Amino acid sequence: MFTELSLHERLLKALAELSFEKPTPVQAAAIPPAIAGEDLYIIAQTGSGKTAAYVLPILQRLLDDDSKALAPRALVLSPTRELAQQILKDVQALARFTFLKAELVIGGEDFKVQAAKLRKNPDIVIATPGRTLEQLEAGGLDLSEVQTLVIDEADRMLDMGFSEDVLSIASACPEQRQTMLFSATTGNQGIRRMVEQILNEPRWLELDSVKSDTPAIRQQVIPVDDNTHREKVTKWLLLNQCEGKAIVFTNTRVVADRLNGVLRAVEGLRVYVLHGEKDQKERKLAIERFKQGGKGVLVATDVAARGLDISELDLVINFDMPRSGDDYLHRVGRTGRAGAEGLAVSLVAPHEWSLMSSIERYLRRQFERREIKELAGSFKGPKKVKASGKPVGAKKKKDDKKKVKRPKTAKPAARRKPAIPKGQVVLDGGDGLAPPKRRS
Ligand code: AMP
Repeated sequence: MFTELSLHERLLKALAELSFEKPTPVQAAAIPPAIAGEDLYIIAQTGSGKTAAYVLPILQRLLDDDSKALAPRALVLSPTRELAQQILKDVQALARFTFLKAELVIGGEDFKVQAAKLRKNPDIVIATPGRTLEQLEAGGLDLSEVQTLVIDEADRMLDMGFSEDVLSIASACPEQRQTMLFSATTGNQGIRRMVEQILNEPRWLELDSVKSDTPAIRQQVIPVDDNTHREKVTKWLLLNQCEGKAIVFTNTRVVADRLNGVLRAVEGLRVYVLHGEKDQKERKLAIERFKQGGKGVLVATDVAARGLDISELDLVINFDMPRSGDDYLHRVGRTGRAGAEGLAVSLVAPHEWSLMSSIERYLRRQFERREIKELAGSFKGPKKVKASGKPVGAKKKKDDKKKVKRPKTAKPAARRKPAIPKGQVVLDGGDGLAPPKRRS
């Protein structure tokens, strides 16, 4: 019960309005230490209720704080604009019976209008790293009174090359602050470094990392010959296996645009497209329309779809195989929410088979093999596979780590104590990885 978490009655009232009856596991684990001001390193995925897990303590601490601050007292960093907008909505819903105000600082919006809004002194700022640095440099944003810093989806933040930006932003906040870092995945070296540099003796809470995926999702693989075959299978699936909403993921904008054109020509499909080249307005509109209507298809790239809270998805199609196991889980985790069974289908061409089997090994599960009779192609999966599941003849890549170009920013001083987990709580689905080690 939320009443057991010593939350202010105004927050309890908002929770009642939202019909949130009891805390989710991440909320139950994070809210008490967060209200107590501890630094937290939390492994939890989108859909777990993680947003309220940090928003409620922020609001509670702000309600308890009667200092007359002239600048924001809480900063939430998000990797994408869409996630930032979603967080703002959650903050507004939870703060609706308080006088606390939040503002967005994200790209794609007028810089001066944003600076004017910041002059009104919001209590909480929800921001993407790039625009935060720009506003900081232009003097529009003052972080000197931040008491709580949240880094949401830190793993994605690193994937997108924002690690230096995050460090610079953290070093612009006061040394004496609370920091909470959320990640959907564990074991990432970059995250450990970030935790060491910006958190202070964090408590480590691991709840349902993406590696422990949900069995409520049927996960299938359909071998495909080429792009024409992919398109035919996609159309068939959308027309025959989806009564409600579906997302089709592609790896690139070009493919997303092309597929959008192909699907729009199909009678009976309502299709929207979402990728990084669409401007803010177009993206907003596509998301709202897709969410509001009943049946519909959203064609999206990973980055564009990150952070979207779209529930009631019947079907996720991987038009291209995602590049990593975590990306795979971020994609398929959108279906089968709230106890409903979902279906995730990956279309796999011969050159993607090795990648698909490495994802299977990473997740320690085998996807169901499937063929659509009327659309059977000539590729049925490799004839011979190694013990690893990869096709015989698949070359071993020496090192396919991509080098991410990072903007040049001043290297922040290693300002805080190393990350020493106070207590590790593994409530669900740990992957056996050890928490960061104490530095001697
Ligand atoms: P999040 O993981 O923060 O993206 O939240 C996923 C969804 O769960 C959002 O639609 C939230 O509004 C909803 N939610 C968060 N906490 C609760 C709760 N305690 N009870 C019911 N729904 C919740």
